[in-house]
Formats: sequence, C-alpha cells, structure tokens
Amino acid sequence: MAIITAPFEIVKTGINNAFVSKEPWQIVTITTSTVLLSVWLYEFIFQEESVMERTKKTFFKLAKLVPSIRLKIDSEMESVRKSLYKDVEERGKALHYITTLPEKGFSKEAIVKLTDENLGLSDYDWAQGKVSGTVYYMSSEINSLITDIYSKSAYTNPLHLDIFPGICKMEAEVVHMTANAFHGGANACGTMTSGGTESILMACKAFRDFAREEKGIKKPEMVLPKTAHSAFDKAAQYFKIKAIYVPVDPVTTQVDINAMEKAISWNTIMLVGSAPNFPYGTMDDIAAISDLGLKYNIPVHVDSCLGGFLTAFMPDAGFPVPICDFRLPGVMSISADTHKYGFTPKGSSVVLYREPKYRHHQYTITTDWPGGVYGSPTVGGSRAGGSIAVCWAVLLRFGKEGYIRATREIIHTSRYIEKGLRSMKGIFVFGQPATSVIAIGSNDFDIYRLSSALLKLGWNLNNLQYPSAIHLAVTYLHTKGGVADQFLSDVKNSLAIILEKPEKRVEGKLAIYGVAQEIPDRSIVRDITRLFLDSMYYIPNNKENKNDNTQ
Ligand SMILES: *Cc1c(COP(=O)(O)O)cnc(C)c1O
Repeated sequence: MAIITAPFEIVKTGINNAFVSKEPWQIVTITTSTVLLSVWLYEFIFQEESVMERTKKTFFKLAKLVPSIRLKIDSEMESVRKSLYKDVEERGKALHYITTLPEKGFSKEAIVKLTDENLGLSDYDWAQGKVSGTVYYMSSEINSLITDIYSKSAYTNPLHLDIFPGICKMEAEVVHMTANAFHGGANACGTMTSGGTESILMACKAFRDFAREEKGIKKPEMVLPKTAHSAFDKAAQYFKIKAIYVPVDPVTTQVDINAMEKAISWNTIMLVGSAPNFPYGTMDDIAAISDLGLKYNIPVHVDSCLGGFLTAFMPDAGFPVPICDFRLPGVMSISADTHKYGFTPKGSSVVLYREPKYRHHQYTITTDWPGGVYGSPTVGGSRAGGSIAVCWAVLLRFGKEGYIRATREIIHTSRYIEKGLRSMKGIFVFGQPATSVIAIGSNDFDIYRLSSALLKLGWNLNNLQYPSAIHLAVTYLHTKGGVADQFLSDVKNSLAIILEKPEKRVEGKLAIYGVAQEIPDRSIVRDITRLFLDSMYYIPNNKENKNDNTQ
C-alpha cells in the first residue's frame, strides 16, 4: 500500500502547497480553465487529421490568400477547366445535345439511333479486350438472358415485400448462394446492394453502430491497409469514422501486420483486409488479420469486391489460393461484387455477415415518420428489382460449373500475361498477383510512358500513384484468342522504344498523373478532380444545339 500511497501523498502535498495562497474562487477558476484547456488541447491534437496535416493545410490556405498566388492558381484552374471541357466538346462535336424535354416524344427508332450514336462516342474497343477491368462481359447469350429477365422485372421494387414477394425471394437466394460460395455457416446472412462501394459503406455503418451499441465506442476508428479501396474513405467521410491507414510492405504490397496491430486502439470498430486489393491485385494476409480480430475482439471485413467471384472458384479451377472467407473465424463480413466477376450488369453487389447481429446494425429504421414506420436494409429506399432478378438469373445460368470455367480461363490468361511481363527487361511486377490484376512498375523509366505508348495502340490501362505504376485487370474479354499475345507484344515493342531514351519524362495527357502526385497541396488536386467531375455534366453551349430537338 505504501508504494501506492506515497506518490499520491507527494502529489497531494504539492497541489495543496501550490494553492495555499489562493482564494476558493481562484481555485475554482484555475481548475475549470485547466480542465477546459486540456480538453481543448486533447481535441486539437487528436482530431481526424494529424497536427502536421492540418498545419500543412493551413499553410496552403494562407498562401492562397496572397493575391499573386491566388491569381496564378485561379488562372491555372481556368485553363484546366477549359481543357477538360474542350475534350467533351471534341468528343461530341458531331452530335446534338438535348437540354429540354422534346415537345413531342421521339419515335422508338429515333431513340435507338440516338442511343447508338451516344454509345459510339468512345475511342476504345472494350469488346476486343483493349480495356483493363471495366467491362465484365461474358457472351451475347448471357446478354440476351439479361434483357429478357429485365424486361419482365423492370418495374419491380423489393421495398414492397407484399407486392413483390418474388423479388425478395430472389434477393434472399442471391445472398444465400453467395454466402455458401464463401463458406458462411448456418447464420450467415447479408443483403444485395447497388455495387461494391455500397457494400463497403454498409459494412462500415454496421460495425460503427454495432460498436457504439455493444461497446460504447463514440469516436469510431477503422484500421485498414493503405491499399484498401477508396470506398472505405468514402465511408469514413460519410459516417464520421476515422480511417487509420497501415502501410504495406513495398515488395509484397501486403499490409504490414505488426503495424496493423499497433494501429488498433480502444476506438477500433473494424479491421480491413483486401482479397485482393485494387491497385496491385495482391492479397493481404487475411488469416493474420483474422487472428488480430479474434485477439482484440474486433470484427474483420474482407473486401472481395474485385476478386470474390474468382477466389471462390479458383481451387476447383486448379489454382490454389489462400483461404480468405468465413472459414477464418475472425472474418465477420465480406463484400463481393456480382457486377465484376459474377458477370451481372452494373448495379449489383453482395455484402455478407457471419451473424445476423451485424446485419441488424446495417439497417436504417425510422419509427416515428408520419409516412409510417420505415425500415430499409441499404442506402436506397426503392431499389431496382430488375437488377436483383437479372443477377439471380445470371448466377443460375452460370452455376458453379460456369464460374469455375470462367475463372479457369481468366486466371490462366492472367498468369500467362504475368509470366510474359516478368520476362521483359525494364519493368517489374508488384508482389504476387492473387487473381486477375497485374501491376507493373519500372526502376528504369517513367512507367506512365508505357501507359501512354499503349494508349496510342488502343489499350486503356489503370494508372496508379505512390509509387507510379500501371495495372491490367484481366477480364473474360482478354481470354479470347490472340488478345494476351497482342498485349504482350505491344508492351514489348513499346519497351524497346522507351528504353532507347529511358530518362525522358512522359508527355501528353498522362503527364497529369505524374504531376498530380507531386503537388504538395492536395486541395489543388481535389479542386482539379471537382472540375473533372463537373466536365461529366458539361453540355457545350452551342447555339445551334438549342431548340433543335426535332427528330
Ligand atoms: C471495384 C472494387 C470495389 C467497389 O467498387 P464499385 O465500383 O463500387 O463496385 C471495392 N473494392 C475493390 C478492391 C474493388 O476493386
């Protein structure tokens, strides 16, 4: 006891001595302001962003108050905006833009013609496998199944169980078929969503609310690899969850498990692992993350949006893959996109939970609305029943056998391309691609030059940053005869030219990717991105186009 009381005595005597000459009102004031100051200091230091980050931001904010800097930035922004808008104008210059409802409705033939014109605007031939990821197309036969089923179910809505019980049954079946593919036990459950981002948003919301209710966590934090999909950052922004990013090993590009353990705090609501991640297509050590989850009693989410419908079938397709599903006891939820390697059209994904208690926290319920007690499982209120029916139909059409066959061809092609790339001088492959994404970088030249050279040959790859890299996500379209060899020979020929002058920097459009990484003021990058998004909604202000809606 003495050991414990002694320091206490010292502190007590010290405080008493310090306050001996003070009057009671002074003591109260000092105490109050000390508490307030500590609270303020605590809040200041432990905000969503580090002190360093905020200092940097304040510095840039102040710098922009200097008129000459402000002017310079404004004029640069204006030229960025102009060039983005010019791209839109160039692309659509042969076409009419419609900005008001036509007085009289168009004929079906006219609409079909206009649709073809609009869809024909792209410079890329995705159907010939020239584009990374993006289009997860299987065949005209599946396409016709999709349109048949959609035409029957276009106006359905699972919000109304009483009116569309069959759509709800189909959704439940999609969830269960998927849960089974990921070895969910008897209690496994989930919902369909509109896409991977929504699946991830829902898991984050579920774990945030679960942690608040079960553990009293009021300042939620999620611990995730730097490489986790940006949808988690969206969840952090939407739901006020602090995202604690963990670095990845520069060689394997897998999350650093020790650093992940250190990042765990009393406020951690969830851990995240990707199977695989988007940038490098490598898989985190999900078993180790699952162990961390069990050790600290924190639910683990596995993001299988990209690779889920491959990893689930890889063993049967003859490709071993680490276990990354509910067989790992710490894994409490999985997101898997039916609209990627499930081959359903866009607008469809599944989020799964080990136990119903998590799904309960995904739901939003409003009990006191004059419109009635309102409960909905996901972000939407009304949802596209047609999208559910179509997904259900595609799963049934493929069956396990269909997915195993597609997986075999896709992984076979990916490994073939990976092997080819590894044999080429001047580039390297990041880590061990787990499924269908192969990321390449270079120690010898600016890798965006390769991207740029391939662009000229009609290939559209994904450009990555920190560090500069590019990747190809192999889809079923790349498995067709000749595509992989064409890609490899185009890379090889481009490399031969690039390596003649390895020190040259990238020119043209792709220069923006290099520049964007080097701008220390990220708010400028944000503002440029806003302009880019604006350009999606830009209609060239062409007088000729006005009032010209007659068809
Ligand atoms: C595609 C993807 C997602 C979700 O993206 P959506 O475009 O919303 O479907 C999430 N995680 C990974 C790893 C992905 O590749």
